[in-house]
Amino acid sequence: MKLISKSNKLEGVCYDIRGPILDAARKMEDEGHRILKLNIGNPAPFGFAAPEDILKDVIHNLPTAQGYSDASGIYAARVAVMQYYQQQNIKNISVDDVFIGNGVSELIVMAMQALLNNGDEVLIPSPDYPLWTAAVSLSSGTPVHYKCDEQSDWFPDIDDIRSKVSSNTKAIVLINPNNPTGAVYSRELLQQIIELAREFNLVVFSDEIYDKILYDGAKHTCIASMADDLFFITLSGLSKNYRIAGFRAGWLLVSGNKLIARNYIDGLNMLASMRMCANVPCQHAIQTALGGYQSINDLIVDGGRLKIQRDIASKMLNDIDGISCVVPKGAMYCFVKVDAEKFNITNDEQMILDLLTKEKILLVHGKAFNFTEGCYFRLVFLPHKDELEMAIKRIGNFFSYYKQV
Ligand code: PLP
Repeated sequence: MKLISKSNKLEGVCYDIRGPILDAARKMEDEGHRILKLNIGNPAPFGFAAPEDILKDVIHNLPTAQGYSDASGIYAARVAVMQYYQQQNIKNISVDDVFIGNGVSELIVMAMQALLNNGDEVLIPSPDYPLWTAAVSLSSGTPVHYKCDEQSDWFPDIDDIRSKVSSNTKAIVLINPNNPTGAVYSRELLQQIIELAREFNLVVFSDEIYDKILYDGAKHTCIASMADDLFFITLSGLSKNYRIAGFRAGWLLVSGNKLIARNYIDGLNMLASMRMCANVPCQHAIQTALGGYQSINDLIVDGGRLKIQRDIASKMLNDIDGISCVVPKGAMYCFVKVDAEKFNITNDEQMILDLLTKEKILLVHGKAFNFTEGCYFRLVFLPHKDELEMAIKRIGNFFSYYKQV
């Protein structure tokens, strides 16, 4: 019998957040072990409930949401997204500039498929949320990683970005607030990126899915509000800010100099039409979410659940000998450095596998975020205080005896 193989398109496409280690964890669960999964930023299983109004509205609209919507989404959701960005000072946008998708994930892939030709290069942060790298590779582009610097609160290194620009560079991707580092970029930094994008005619993609999850008074700035002459694509959705990742509701906004991008926007419209539309019942959540009570704010202030857990995670991790992390200013992750020399670590994936086997805790290794320097892991600080403390104690215990052979 002839074997059936994955297509050549998938060669070099990598998405290790749900990779081989997750398979090992599933196998252990099948054998009866209880695994503490701190590997995926999915708030609902950790008891973060969706705002009540959103659920009510989706249920209320269910009977009338049985047909396809417009390919770019229902009108009310697109108006709500447009207004959300108008309030953030993005000028000259209309409902036609908004595309609703099945989560930001679908829109990232669509946006890259519509843009890239063979060999086009896209600047992507390292570490990154790896779907960006995967989507560029899948779309026959070449991901070129620029360095984010731990010594500068994980801000992108502008000189490194500049050194990576070539005549094939088409776009730059920002993830702000950042997954996995938790960095929230300053206006000054964003201004430098704008100047660079202007100099080299780059499309600017900004993934802002954590734009409301901010700590210690950090302020998020939507880069698309800072210039009118460049072409921007801003993405966000309901998965994190509103804790409803399973609804698969996200959006993409095109803004700035849309005149130069007419043909590309036609391409986006065609790809949107080819998949008919996003899940219609859950599109109804968008207007209510953006216009309603912003309960995320109760979770991120002093005394709020996410803030408490952020504090516990960063303090306890930094107290472990041989381990350190920059305290995240946004999102829901700690990106943790491990002293590779001390533990004789040459393979970070093996380290995470060993932690899983010994302590029944599942994390994601740094290389899964396309970060090849040193040894790192990402921890999701979504579990309740007691469970989080127990998990980090076990991580501390692991590093008290661990030596990679
Ligand atoms: N972008 C970033 C930076 C993310 O961290 C995630 C999910 O973790 C996504 C996009 C995908 O989000 P969605 O659930 O909207 O597909």
